[in-house]
Amino acid sequence: MAARHDHTTDPRLQEELLQARRGTAFFARKLNELTDAELDGGTRLPDWSRRHVVAHVGYNARAIARLVEWAATGVETPMYPSPEARNQEINFGATLSPIALRNLFDHSAVHLSVEWRDLPDANWASEVRTAQGRIVPASETVWMRTREVWIHAVDLDNGASFHDVPVPVLERLLADITTAWHTRGTDAGLLITVTDTAKNGVTFGDTSAADPTIISGPLAAVVEWAAGRGGSGVTATGPGGSPEEIPAPPNWI
Ligand code: ZN
Repeated sequence: MAARHDHTTDPRLQEELLQARRGTAFFARKLNELTDAELDGGTRLPDWSRRHVVAHVGYNARAIARLVEWAATGVETPMYPSPEARNQEINFGATLSPIALRNLFDHSAVHLSVEWRDLPDANWASEVRTAQGRIVPASETVWMRTREVWIHAVDLDNGASFHDVPVPVLERLLADITTAWHTRGTDAGLLITVTDTAKNGVTFGDTSAADPTIISGPLAAVVEWAAGRGGSGVTATGPGGSPEEIPAPPNWI
């Protein structure tokens, strides 16, 4: 019989699982606040309705569950057959009835949670490959899901904001995003300063630039901007400290 508690005994992983499940519960709450008719409404993502966001978050749980199954069995099961198949699946999901869409979210979230729960300690280090082709330990799937549910809860655009996202999640997001920019070299001349939290004044981005454009603001606002969700709450200053228009951030994913 399956255990009713997580098999992993790693306290860090247990904490991360809690964060992912909290984010899932938060997304569920925002989704439940929407009427069926409101599912047709727009989101913070230019081309996606709420239907697309809900379908994507549901299929994302299934895709991540495939990685956990891969780690459990050693049998390679990729997240998606191809980027095109992923997009087709989302477009199809967006046409489902409201009840089917809500079921997709609920059932896929429970399924993923059970896959995590039943993954033995030793298998969390097993390597799997993400949709972007990164080779990661199975433990990374927890973070992959965490950032999806928190960010897309905000994308639903019915009241959630980056201020609702826990600080540790925001901090890790900002580190992820700025690391991705750095790896691609797209952060040249761009410096990011966080003005609140215990890390007051901490900077990310191109710390070697002589006269950078500086984006600064509270952590939640900076992450919102860096994730490509708008620039409210941040300020930009150019060479010599003169105010500038908020630039679009480099692409993240
Ligand atoms: Zn996503």
